Formats: sequence, C-alpha cells, structure tokens
Amino acid sequence: MKKIVVMGSTGSIGTQTLDIAKKHPDEINVVALTASTSVDLIEKQAREFAPFLVAMYDKKAAADLSARLSDTDIKVVSGMEGLIEAASFDCDIVVTAMVGMIGIRPTVAAIEAGHDIALANKETLVCAGHIIMPLIKKHGVSLYPVDSEHSAIFQSLNGEHHDDIEKIILTASGGPFRMRSKEELSSMTAKEALCHPNWNMGNKITIDSATLVNKGLEVMEACHLFDVALDDIEVVVHPQSIIHSAVMYKDGGIMAQMGCPDMRLPIQYALFGPRRPYLDTKRLSLADLGTMTFERPDPDKFEGFALAYEAARRSGNMPTVFNAANERAVALFLEHKINFTDIPRLIKAAMDNASFIASPSVDDIIATGKSAEEYVEQYLMNGMR
Ligand code: MG
Repeated sequence: MKKIVVMGSTGSIGTQTLDIAKKHPDEINVVALTASTSVDLIEKQAREFAPFLVAMYDKKAAADLSARLSDTDIKVVSGMEGLIEAASFDCDIVVTAMVGMIGIRPTVAAIEAGHDIALANKETLVCAGHIIMPLIKKHGVSLYPVDSEHSAIFQSLNGEHHDDIEKIILTASGGPFRMRSKEELSSMTAKEALCHPNWNMGNKITIDSATLVNKGLEVMEACHLFDVALDDIEVVVHPQSIIHSAVMYKDGGIMAQMGCPDMRLPIQYALFGPRRPYLDTKRLSLADLGTMTFERPDPDKFEGFALAYEAARRSGNMPTVFNAANERAVALFLEHKINFTDIPRLIKAAMDNASFIASPSVDDIIATGKSAEEYVEQYLMNGMR
C-alpha cells in the first residue's frame, strides 16, 4: 500500500490524481488532502477517501470545512502551517499539485520529512530549483515529474545514461494563437485564450500556454530536473500534441513518448512507474493520425517565451520575478483588466525593475515574488509607463 498526500486536490491535476487513486484502492491510500478555498469539493473528497488530515490554506474555508466534517475523525488544519503539516504527514509520496509559489515551502518540508515527490507545481523548480535539487540529493528522496513533457522526458531517459544525452526536445502545442499574427494577438480575449486546442487544464496554465510562458517555465524546470544546460533544450512546436517530448542521444537516436493527450498517464507514471498498469485512456492510431507536424516557436511573436529565456539566463531571482509578474498579469487578464499582449509587457517591466539576487533563499524568493506582483499592480495603476 502506497500512502499518498495530494496537495491541491481540488484542482485539475489533484482531481485526476484522485481518479487514479480510485482505480487502485488496493495500492493507494490517500492519507492527506490540501486545497486553498474549495470547501464543497474537498468535503466531498474527504468523505470519499477518508484521509487522516485535510489542510485548507484559507483560514475561513478551514473553519467552514471543520464544522462540516465534525461528524468524522478527519483533522482539519489551516494556513501555511497546515500545508506544511500535510506535506510532512507520514506517507510515501507527496503529489504537489497546488498552483503558485505557495508550493515551495510545503515541498521543502516534504523532502525534509524524507518523502518522495510527484511534482506538478512548476514554481517549485523554476524559482527554487537551486535549493530543491541539492535537498533532494541530501535526503535521498526521488522526484517524479507529473507535467506531461517532463514525464515524457523522464520516460525517455529510462534505462539510458545521462552522459549520453545530446539534447532534450521539449514539445509545445503552440496554444490557440499559433496561427494568429503578432498584430492580432492584442485583441485576443480571455475566452479565446481559454480554448486550448488539445489539453483540458486549469485556467492559469491555459493562458500560460497561449502566451508560451508555460513553455518558458517548462524549459527552466527541465534544466533543474534533468541537470542540463539551457542550450541543450530545443523547444519544438508540435500542434497535434502526440509526442509529449523526447531525448536525443549522442548516437543520433531519439527516444520519445507518445500518446493521446491525457494527464492521467503522467500522473499514474509518477505514482507507479516504471510499472504501467492498465489505464482507460484513448488509444492512439498512427494510421488514423496520418501526419504529425513540427515547427520552430516564434519568440518575436510570443514575447513571454523570449522573456523566459532572458530570466533563465540571468538566473538568481529573475525566474521568480518572471513567474510572479506573470502570475499577477494572468490574473489581471482573466479579470479583463489588461489585454493579452500586456502580459509580457508587465513581465518585462517587473524584470527591468527588480533588484538582482544571485543565490536567493526561500525567504528571498517569497519576498521577490511579492514585490514583483506589487510592481505589476503599481505599473498598471501608473498607466503602464
Ligand atoms: Mg506541460
């Protein structure tokens, strides 16, 4: 029996993780759940999976949930301390599927408690990879990627030697605006940006796919996760999202992982890999598919993608500034307060304004994130000047 903690259980990855858990009741025991504010859904999940502990980041939501679960033995905790308590709870693996920088401290706590990590929280490695990766080594725990691209790379590395890697080929769908001109982008609405061609995901990551910021974050994540240099990663736009990513080796051979897009596969692989139990996912027919196409990304059109590379090259706390400014800008875009091309404008402004820290601590990262978000608000209030 594998004891798992699911952090961010009410989100897209969290709910699909619980779907996988439900399919394997003899192998997976859900011991703790966490969420920010979604009381209705987490109450339902708590009643179904009967964990020992549920943590709500929002204190009011925690009080509400505690009252609703008073007929059970489930302990309800709150705030950052609550998330850390859940991450440290006796288990085998912690699925980190919360959105945003609130994922960093609980992930550190989980590693320090000796737990393996199924990583779905991008911010952890983007902002704190230089802290997390040595910590993983120090505590002898394993880090399993959940993101479809990183899972595909992880699967393509299975049984191979790290020294034999020539480059990593990270695929991107190109998002819903791949065929739009640069001029057209500014008038794209949130509704249009939320229509992802292949993947059904949470709102924030769907916007990040439309701007290609998501791909930039994934490149930074891959550098840490697979210990490769920025220039050893090639991003290729592959609109059909069939090849989820690949590794080219020094003999010219490419190992790729393919399939119909379904996040449950990488989630299941993170929990069971290298075993591959049956999954009721749609089967890919290569003959029906016929063709797959590939093209280079256009950093001139998708400025957020170019800025991600700038942040990665500058390193230190710049990825945090990039990420936090983007997080705030995406929220403003979803609230219809800015237009689509203002997202990279705001990121750039925040990066230009930030003071550089070469090797930020977790506290520095949180503080950097906070001031980048504040700067975005202030810049917007000043009429984006
Ligand atoms: Mg991805």
